[in-house]
Amino acid sequence: MAKLVRTCPACGLLMWAKEEDVEYLDENTIRLKCPHCQKMVRLNLVTQGSTAAGPQMGH
Ligand SMILES: [Zn+2]
Repeated sequence: MAKLVRTCPACGLLMWAKEEDVEYLDENTIRLKCPHCQKMVRLNLVTQGSTAAGPQMGH
C-alpha cells in the first residue's frame, strides 16, 4: 500500500497519508485531514515530470 508523505500547507508539518484516508477529488488532486492541525487540506499530486518545476497556471 502506497503512502504519501506531504507537507501540510496549513501547519507545515509532514503528513503521512494512507491511501484509505485520502479522498481523490480528481486524478491529480487529493484531499485529506491533517493529523496535526485537523484541517482538511487539498494537495496536488503532480510533483514529478516536466510540470513539477515550472509554474502551474490554472486551466
Ligand atoms: Zn496541518
